[in-house]
Amino acid sequence: MQIEAAICAFCGCLCDDIVLTIESDRIVQAKNACALGKAWYTAHSRPPDLPAARVDGKSVEVEEAIEAAAILLTKARYPILYGLSSTSCEAQRHAVALAEALGGCIDCCTSVCHGPSGMAVQGFGEPTCTLGEVKNRADLVIYWGSNPAESHPRHMSRYAVTSKGRLTPNGRKNRTVVLVDVRSTPSSRFADLLLTVRPGIDFEILWALRALVLGRKVEPAGLAETGITLAQLTHLAELMKNCRYGVLFAGQGLTQSAGNQMNLSAAILLVRDLNQFTKFAIIPMRGHGNVTGVDQVLTWQTGYPFGVNFSRGYPRFNPGEFTMVDVLRRKEADAVLSVASDPAASLPAEAVQRLTEVPLIAIDTHESETTRLARVSFMASTVGIRASGTAYRMDNVPLFLKQALTSIYPSDEEILGRLLERVRELKA
Ligand code: SF4
Repeated sequence: MQIEAAICAFCGCLCDDIVLTIESDRIVQAKNACALGKAWYTAHSRPPDLPAARVDGKSVEVEEAIEAAAILLTKARYPILYGLSSTSCEAQRHAVALAEALGGCIDCCTSVCHGPSGMAVQGFGEPTCTLGEVKNRADLVIYWGSNPAESHPRHMSRYAVTSKGRLTPNGRKNRTVVLVDVRSTPSSRFADLLLTVRPGIDFEILWALRALVLGRKVEPAGLAETGITLAQLTHLAELMKNCRYGVLFAGQGLTQSAGNQMNLSAAILLVRDLNQFTKFAIIPMRGHGNVTGVDQVLTWQTGYPFGVNFSRGYPRFNPGEFTMVDVLRRKEADAVLSVASDPAASLPAEAVQRLTEVPLIAIDTHESETTRLARVSFMASTVGIRASGTAYRMDNVPLFLKQALTSIYPSDEEILGRLLERVRELKA
C-alpha cells in the first residue's frame, strides 16, 4: 500500500510530499524524505514492544496510570507541564487546559531554543511570510546562525534556495544566498556571500547593519571586534536594500548566543527598516516538528508562547521565572509532567537533579531517560505515523498529519484528554 502526500514531522520543514510504502503495518520506504526523515519513519514504525503504561516500573492498564498521574498532579502545590514540541496541537490544547486546571506552570521546548525569538516577537511583532512566498518570490535569502544543510536538510531544496517558483523560475540562478555564521559549515558551499563573524557579536553587527540600511555613518573602528569589515557589511546592506524580496532565516546561533532576545529584536527591527525600501521578512528556523504549534496553541489560549503560570488563576508570562529549567533549578516544582520530550537527557544537571526528587510523569512515543525515571509513564502513538493531528510548519502554516499505521497505544491527545477529565473530577 502507498500513501501519497504524507507529512514528515521530524523537523520544522514539515515536508508534505512524502510517499510512504507500507507492508505488514510497517513503513518500508519513505520516498522524498531526507536522511533524518527516513530515520524518523524507520524508528517510529517499529512494532510496539513496551507496555502502554507503567506505574513504579510495573506494567498497568492505561486507566490505572491515568488515576495515579491525576492523583500525583492534584496533590502537588506547584506542578509544571513541559515539552510538547513533538505532538499534535490537539494534545497541546489539552495540556494548556490541564495546567490551568492544576493552577501550575506550562512550558515548552521553545524556552531552551527559540524562546528569545518569542520574546522579541512579543516586543516588536513579526514581519514574516510563508515558505510558499519564499519559494515563489524571494531573490535574497539570508541564513543567520543556522546550518540548514544539517538541521533542516530539505529547507534549501524545497523552499528557499534551489526551488523554482512563480517569480523565481530558474531556482538557484534567481537567488543570492548569504550565510552569516561563526564558522564554516556544510551549508557554506551554498552561499554566494559567506560572512564569518566572531561569536557573541551578532547584536553589534545587526545594529550596524540597521545604521547602514538607513544611510547613517558607521566608523570602521566600531566593527573591529566583529570579524568583518565595513566594506563587507556595506555590501550586505546594499544587497538587502536592492533585492526584490528578501528573507532572513534566524537560527539558534542568534537565540542561544550572547544577546539572546536582543539579537532577535535587532533582526526584527532591521527587517522592519528594510521594508521602507523593499519587501523583507524574517522566519525563525524552528527545529522540532511541532514546536511552532505549541507556541501557537499557548499564545491563542493564554497570550504567551512559553513559560506560562496559572497559579493566580490567570496566565502570567515570565521567562526566567516560569520556565522549566528555572522552576526546577530553584526546586519550586513538586511534580512534573513531561510530554513528547526528554528533559532528563537534555536539561542542565541541576534541573535534572530536581526531576529525580519529585513525582515525574512522562508521556512519550518511545523509551527515554525521562520515561525510565518517571513514576508514571505512558507510551503514546506517534503523530503522523500511528496517530493523526495538526502541526504548524516553521512559517506558522498549519497542516494535518494523517495516521499511516495502526497503533496499540493511545495518542498524546487521548491520554491528556483523559488526564484532564480526571483532574477536573478530583478538583471538583
Ligand atoms: S527536511 Fe525535515 S521535515 Fe523534511 S524530510 Fe527532512 S526531516 Fe523530514
